[in-house]
Amino acid sequence: MSELYPMLGVEEALERVLAAFQPLEPERVPVLEALGRVLTEDLLADMDIPPLTNTAMDGYAVRAADTDGAGPDRPARLRVIYDLAAGYTTDVAVRPGTAIRIMTGAPLPPGADAVVQFEDTAREGEWVHIFKGVPVGRNVRQAGEDVQRGALILPRGSEVRPQEVGMLAALGHKEVWVHRRPRVAILATGDEVIEIDAPWQPGKIRNANSYSNAAQVLRYGGVPLLLGIARDDVADLTAKIRAGLEQGADLFLTSGGVSVGDFDVVKQVLAAEGEMAFWRVRMKPGKPLAFGHLRGVPLLGLPGNPVSAMVAFELFARPAILKMLGKTRLEKPTVEAVLLDGIRSKDDRRHYLRVSLEEREGVYQARLTGDQGSGILLSMVRAQGLAIIPEEVDHLPAGARVRVMMLDWPERG
Ligand code: AMP
Ligand code: MG
Repeated sequence: MSELYPMLGVEEALERVLAAFQPLEPERVPVLEALGRVLTEDLLADMDIPPLTNTAMDGYAVRAADTDGAGPDRPARLRVIYDLAAGYTTDVAVRPGTAIRIMTGAPLPPGADAVVQFEDTAREGEWVHIFKGVPVGRNVRQAGEDVQRGALILPRGSEVRPQEVGMLAALGHKEVWVHRRPRVAILATGDEVIEIDAPWQPGKIRNANSYSNAAQVLRYGGVPLLLGIARDDVADLTAKIRAGLEQGADLFLTSGGVSVGDFDVVKQVLAAEGEMAFWRVRMKPGKPLAFGHLRGVPLLGLPGNPVSAMVAFELFARPAILKMLGKTRLEKPTVEAVLLDGIRSKDDRRHYLRVSLEEREGVYQARLTGDQGSGILLSMVRAQGLAIIPEEVDHLPAGARVRVMMLDWPERG
């Protein structure tokens, strides 16, 4: 089968995978469920925010001209005619020689054009002494200074972060239209693989991949559908894949069964039931990745080794999920780092090395987290990033600069 499917470079494989996905159709959700998702509608402001001109300080609403020349030794003296709390309005006007006591957020009363904060005043019965003159507009927030009625505030395609949630709430949008979340079916394969809660038996290993992959699906905004474990035979795998398709999936993930071993049935089933687009990518870990379609559903056949399954997911399933969510920035963020360990690479694949990262004097330092075997999940557990070693590099001395794809951002949430 190898001759039929030439090994692809990472970029070419990614391009072919991404071409199979489109942003999913919109659904209407409560505003909090829009977090991390992408708007499919333009949102315009149907009112000004703030809706009324109001005070930014607790103090006295005044006519600025009445405070002209006021100072510590020459206070202006105004009669307090009203007390206005936030949340209320008044028709009482500030006329020359008067002031209205006012609390932050309360609308500026008619006649007033500035606010003197409490700290610059002293109260004496119905009088207030003002120790500092204020210009027109001081401590006043103008109606519409944040958002103007009719303005396009959030264009379609905007990703909803907490600040967008706050803006949507301020504008009174209880529900919004966003791309729906992709449903991702996850099926493990292998006669040796047993469920998370099965008692251990000789020759068996627990199903790590379905869980790490499901966690990745969740992290990137998809809905995982756990389909269990298929045995290494064509009939069982075919039946489980068919059952999974019935549940409605936008992406099908399998793990294992895609290398050159005798029991590598995923490739056979994919070829028999659907079509295989490519197999094998010039990368390590993750080489025996298969991609194809089953009844119109794209299927990524991830390798079985636990680190390979995760790394192949990061590189191919993650951007596919983000694209279905309507996102356009699909690359994983990278940083430049100094690699503290020297390394050798014996082949012409792109290597992704598990590293921990520490920032020292503004420079990231990357250190290998241990054995880089594709079955060594612990070095993935200890890693914050994957150092990318280009195909043409055969060795790097300690201290060389590398790009590191961040798995997460410590200290940054
Ligand atoms: P395969 O690609 O099926 O030959 O699997 C490669 C290696 O990954 C074998 O050692 C498998 O035992 C291991 N493996 C396969 N599937 C899983 C799984 N779901 N969880 C943990 N390890 C697995
Ligand atoms: Mg297997």
